[in-house]
Amino acid sequence: MHIDDAVFLEDLCPKFRFRQWRKSIHKFTGKSCIYCGKPSESIDHVLPRSQGGLSTTENCVPACLSCNGDKSDENALYWYRRQKFYDPRRAMAIRAWLEGDLRLAIRLLQWANPNFQVNKNKYKTDESSYKAA
Ligand SMILES: [Zn+2]
Repeated sequence: MHIDDAVFLEDLCPKFRFRQWRKSIHKFTGKSCIYCGKPSESIDHVLPRSQGGLSTTENCVPACLSCNGDKSDENALYWYRRQKFYDPRRAMAIRAWLEGDLRLAIRLLQWANPNFQVNKNKYKTDESSYKAA
């Protein structure tokens, strides 16, 4: 039997796989918008589908509804540059994400946002040491 003949549960249930995938995208950023840091409620295609953008992890970032709607069919990096909440660290994170380097992207996002969920405890420690000083 060839491996191609194997039937995977995920192939039988594309909806299930899609849901899991969406969840995992939001998880990467601690459910925050990659552009502004607000809670992510949607998945944004960095290269819009209308321009041939694929629904792959590299092309899909967690975004809040206002960023997603505002950006619309524009190039994400050009659009982001014009925003009031523009942060060069986030821009670097978006670029790293597009290149498939999610680890680097997440690191940069943590750097840009000290309230990042994963970093919560570290942030608390930093805050108390700052107050003591
Ligand atoms: Zn946003």
